[in-house]
Amino acid sequence: MNLRTLTIILAAVTVVALCVCAVFVAVLLPQVIQRASPAIAPPAQNPTPRAQATAGPAPTRPAKNYTNDFPRHLLFALDTESATEIRQVSLVIQVDGIQTSSRYLPEFAPSKKVSLVYDFDLQKNYLPPGVMGDFWWVLKDADGKETTTAKERFRVDEPVIQWKKVQNSKIAIYWYSGEQNFGQAIFDRAVASLALLEKDTGVTVDRQVQIFIYGNRNDFLNALGPNVAGFEGGRTHPEYSVVLIDAGARELTYARDATTHEMTHVIMHAKISGALGEFTFPHWLDEGLAMYYETTPGPLGAQFSIPLKKAIDTDTLLSLRSMAGRFPIAQVDLGYAESYSAVEYFYRKYGREKMQQLLLAIKAGGDFDELLSKVTGLNTDQFENEWRKDVGAKPRAASTATPVTGKPTPFPTFSLSTDPTATPAK
Ligand SMILES: [Zn+2]
Repeated sequence: MNLRTLTIILAAVTVVALCVCAVFVAVLLPQVIQRASPAIAPPAQNPTPRAQATAGPAPTRPAKNYTNDFPRHLLFALDTESATEIRQVSLVIQVDGIQTSSRYLPEFAPSKKVSLVYDFDLQKNYLPPGVMGDFWWVLKDADGKETTTAKERFRVDEPVIQWKKVQNSKIAIYWYSGEQNFGQAIFDRAVASLALLEKDTGVTVDRQVQIFIYGNRNDFLNALGPNVAGFEGGRTHPEYSVVLIDAGARELTYARDATTHEMTHVIMHAKISGALGEFTFPHWLDEGLAMYYETTPGPLGAQFSIPLKKAIDTDTLLSLRSMAGRFPIAQVDLGYAESYSAVEYFYRKYGREKMQQLLLAIKAGGDFDELLSKVTGLNTDQFENEWRKDVGAKPRAASTATPVTGKPTPFPTFSLSTDPTATPAK
């Protein structure tokens, strides 16, 4: 097996892994922020701590002691003393983009002088690199008086890796393997795809997407935290707007495609998710959009175009309805290829205004079939037959055109959207 063949196989495996990664995140890491003891009331609607009150305990120095020891720990240290005994200390952590803060109660012996380190265990409460936020302490003394320390910033990151970085306000590419032109090429492609994505869909990016490209597989696996599926080639955290990709300096094409693909997912999920948390965004449309912006400009790669052509020729295309929730495990490439093809057809036939209308309708909520009908005049089966005709496939038989499972399955990772309901207690 030559290197090129191996690379193609690896790329195929990693593309597949990337696109199921969001599902893995949903299943394995439903929440990484853990609320602390239920005995403590959630932080009042007062995320901005007041300056330290004169009456309560006073930290002897600013609570600036934050040590990043990713991927094992974040260490938050406090030194404080008070005229009266300090009975309770809580650490409050507020992650950017997550509306619920979390409180943690370090164990300590009540005293007038308290010196402690709270070990935030990333193996239990995983946070990916790039996550930023505020932390502060709430101290309560024997008289019940409370002091809240000033907010301090923290950032989760690799303590050893020396990242190179190219960024603008919407995208940041971090890498360490490969020269400047490696990261720049990925960045340039992401910027171009994002411009197209914004123009076509009307989305605007209001939270920078951070993409970390690991040039070494061990580094990558190490960064994933405790729940690692051995085949993963990337992982997307839409709730933090963070993507981790495993791609070496000689895999520029793959790194570029994967970056664009996952960036599209992150942006679309953030934009389409609404306050209700109930969505009908079929998997084929989600992946079709990601494939479209990954692929444009240029034709679909052989990994996908070959199974697509074969399925058209042998009349074995998967139905769009059957791909509402996920792709059949043995036909993943065909699933991606058809999704791309259906989205590409949609743009060609109906144009970007109709796509914008469809996405806005999905954001507002409702049954996907009804939304599609409202925008195009066709339900999923009718749209599918139009698309089949366009690609040269036979119309589907009436019997198989009948939906087997009824309405499309909501896409599972929407529970990980940036909407504020996504932080239940563990
Ligand atoms: Zn995908």
